Amino acid sequence: MTPTAGPYAGTSRLDAARRTLELEALGDDPRIDLLVIGGGVTGAGVALDAASRGLRTVLVEARDLAFGTSRWSSKLVHGGLRYLASGRIKVARESAVERGVLMTRTAPHLIRALPQLVPLLPDLLRPGQATLIRTGFHAGDALRLTAGTPGALLPRVRRIDADRTRRLAPGVRTDGLRGALVAHDGQLVDDARLVVALARTAAQYGASVLTRVRAEQVTGTSARLVDTLTGQELAVRAGAVVNATGVWAGEVDTSIRLRPSRGTHLLVDAQALGNPTAALTVPVPGSTSRFVFALPQQLGRVAIGLTDEDAPGPIPDEPQPTEAELSFLLDTVNAALETALTRADVRGAYAGLRPLIDTGDGSTADISREHAVLENPDGVVTVVGGKLTTYRKMAEDAVDAAVRLRGLSARACWTARLPLIGAPGHRDSRPLPTGEGGAGPVPASLVARHGGAAHEVLAAGESAPIAEGLDVTRAEIAYAVTHEGALDVADVLDRRTRIGLVAEDAERARKAVEEIVGECRGAGQEG
Ligand SMILES: Cc1cc2nc3c(=O)[nH]c(=O)nc-3n(C[C@H](O)[C@H](O)[C@H](O)COP(=O)(O)OP(=O)(O)OC[C@H]3O[C@@H](n4cnc5c(N)ncnc54)[C@H](O)[C@@H]3O)c2cc1C
Repeated sequence: MTPTAGPYAGTSRLDAARRTLELEALGDDPRIDLLVIGGGVTGAGVALDAASRGLRTVLVEARDLAFGTSRWSSKLVHGGLRYLASGRIKVARESAVERGVLMTRTAPHLIRALPQLVPLLPDLLRPGQATLIRTGFHAGDALRLTAGTPGALLPRVRRIDADRTRRLAPGVRTDGLRGALVAHDGQLVDDARLVVALARTAAQYGASVLTRVRAEQVTGTSARLVDTLTGQELAVRAGAVVNATGVWAGEVDTSIRLRPSRGTHLLVDAQALGNPTAALTVPVPGSTSRFVFALPQQLGRVAIGLTDEDAPGPIPDEPQPTEAELSFLLDTVNAALETALTRADVRGAYAGLRPLIDTGDGSTADISREHAVLENPDGVVTVVGGKLTTYRKMAEDAVDAAVRLRGLSARACWTARLPLIGAPGHRDSRPLPTGEGGAGPVPASLVARHGGAAHEVLAAGESAPIAEGLDVTRAEIAYAVTHEGALDVADVLDRRTRIGLVAEDAERARKAVEEIVGECRGAGQEG
């Protein structure tokens, strides 16, 4: 029996009852083909890759989907430009190809083309820097072409005048402004939503996705699974085990030593920057390759990031930004703004950890952009590094390695042609359900977060906002519990939605979210 036989077979619906059922099924028959440890973008990608190749797959996540680094990113689907600058052509091309796959086939519903502009302000750019940036942008464009991504999707590099610059980014300083250079990249509506879409699509292909389940005593063919909700333990035997625990990889496989680096973003109201529709790219003084970005986000915010700080020591559950990082980000972006932002404008801040491999001689090898697939003497396959953009290739490489090393029988990888839940072409996707079910016009923000699954979301509840001024519907809260595997209020506030990024917003929404989560969990138990 597959773990997902029964009422959930062939469905992408994740809820508490499915979790219980699948844990029971695993207890009855603990032999599986592939155990994936970690429910970030990498682990969810591995689970989808393996399940869609026909392997009996179980993913365990100690906390919640996207609990780790995968929710703290800049949410960009990169074309690899920065790797070109350092001569890493293969990584750059891989990034551009994967960006194209995501934007054309697997998740176009979650990604938009984001104009990124570098304002031409003489005192902001060093002599020759504009030429250097323009050359880099053109190289990025060439990469897009070779990756086969159409210009209609990601428009070509161009220079715009000062008026147009101010229309796209109204906060930019006018004094001396000669226009801007503009290039386009992909931007996810939210990183955690990509993880949820991956996990649900994996579940549809038969993977068991088990949150609040920690893997311990991991070998290449076995692990002890602890249900952190009940304390119950279960020993599984697997054809292969893939460790996709990101910065925690060294805890699962002690032969791996990581030395993380922290990247921090702060959040301000979009209004404080005149509601920009483009990202602002501001060079860091004294560096030719570092920039601070002001990235328009959902829920009416702009994220300003990011830093790169050595973060040795134990891995915290939620890394915390420092005051120095916030000051650095504000000082850098303010150099391009008409009205400087102050600490009073900061509505929230978040930090994530990049995994760097500690080579043991005091230096680190930067695999935070390139990924590595490693096998330890016990046979555990670890996949670490890379980025959100390249999760699919990382997953393919990890499953290929597991299949090869352990002699598993599996079809070839085909995830580059596999639309995720909500994407056009996914079998459950439907066109925009305007006015369906008496719900009235569908909020554009809901469609941006759910794509072709919007009709299903609206069927789960009301289209009224969860709190005044927050464009997250009550239906999305219910859907998070009934279809997206949210088990409690924190899962909903902090990962299925990103209301929790601004503490004040979370407090405004908390009571209503608690009520809906309670109702849905109660109804689930009765059913
Ligand atoms: C600041 C920052 C900005 C970034 N911006 C971008 C960007 O704009 N675009 C881009 O493409 N990439 C970006 N990246 C890179 C990208 O975010 C990461 O490469 C990616 O999210 C890593 O995902 P992961 O699944 O490997 O790790 P994680 O997301 O950390 O997932 C690991 C999971 O494993 C779980 N886990 C740990 N131990 C166990 C255990 N014993 N049992 C079960 N589960 C366990 C954890 O709870 C966690 O959920 C950024 C990275 C950082 C740090």
